[in-house]
Amino acid sequence: MTGKSPVLLVTGGSRGIGAAVSIAAARQGWAVAVNYASNKVAAETVVAAIRDGGGEAIAVAGDVGVADDIQAIFSVVDQHFGRLDGLVNNAGIVDLPQRVDEMTPERLERMFRINITGSILCAGQAVRRMSTRHGGKGGAIVNISSMAAVLGSAGQYVDYAASKGAIDTFTIGLAREVVTEGIRVNAVRPGVIDTDIHASGGLPDRARDLGPTIPMQRAGTPDEIADAVLYLVGPQASYITGSILNVSGGR
Ligand code: NDP
Repeated sequence: MTGKSPVLLVTGGSRGIGAAVSIAAARQGWAVAVNYASNKVAAETVVAAIRDGGGEAIAVAGDVGVADDIQAIFSVVDQHFGRLDGLVNNAGIVDLPQRVDEMTPERLERMFRINITGSILCAGQAVRRMSTRHGGKGGAIVNISSMAAVLGSAGQYVDYAASKGAIDTFTIGLAREVVTEGIRVNAVRPGVIDTDIHASGGLPDRARDLGPTIPMQRAGTPDEIADAVLYLVGPQASYITGSILNVSGGR
């Protein structure tokens, strides 16, 4: 079916920043495809919150580190909504803190496959659907980078930082590639945001510990990132493409 609401796909929409983006998007009138990798319960909780608020959403399983899964995610969006107007490339991982001389090829392959290859492949699928070159009506893509892209995460996650640096470069290149096809491409660089990712990165108290070192003296919230993402993906940013917005409390 083809609904009236614009449709937004949020990768990694089940928790943290992606969940906040999904819920905020629904409040602004988007129908939302909430992608998740393994946490179906969390994704369904986000979908239920959206529906309780009168919005439209579905949960869509799929690992953005697996090319076939990406095809399947977009097929579900096609079948359910029949249109796509925006993509938030949010799904991303960190790994345990390590120095570069401890990092294995397996760690690096997984990091880059999920954080950058997955984002590029998802963008490709979105462009096929949204580009006026392919008969689409245009749209917007927002990539989630990180302040790590410019700060480097020395001694902990230089691989993660490099994957986010690649997100920045990809954002600039893709914005230019599709600028005449009705598609805007921007990125948000979150600073330290209080989510589960720090526990999966082996530093569960990172947001609390780093808070006092941030110019604004605190970690950010997922909602504060969602506000920036929704601005960039929405019509108020109609003249913005190729931009990367720091949302980092001054960090
Ligand atoms: P969380 O760990 O809290 O949530 C990660 C989300 O991504 C979950 O919904 C998870 O799904 C999903 N996900 C993980 N791997 C995959 C995958 N392979 N395929 C599909 N979905 C996947 O992370 P955050 O909300 O903190 O981070 C979101 C983005 O923001 C990431 O790109 C991260 O790098 C970036 N960021 C975060 C910062 C922070 O301080 N929190 C700072 C800077 C950038 P499931 O629930 O199924 O596991």
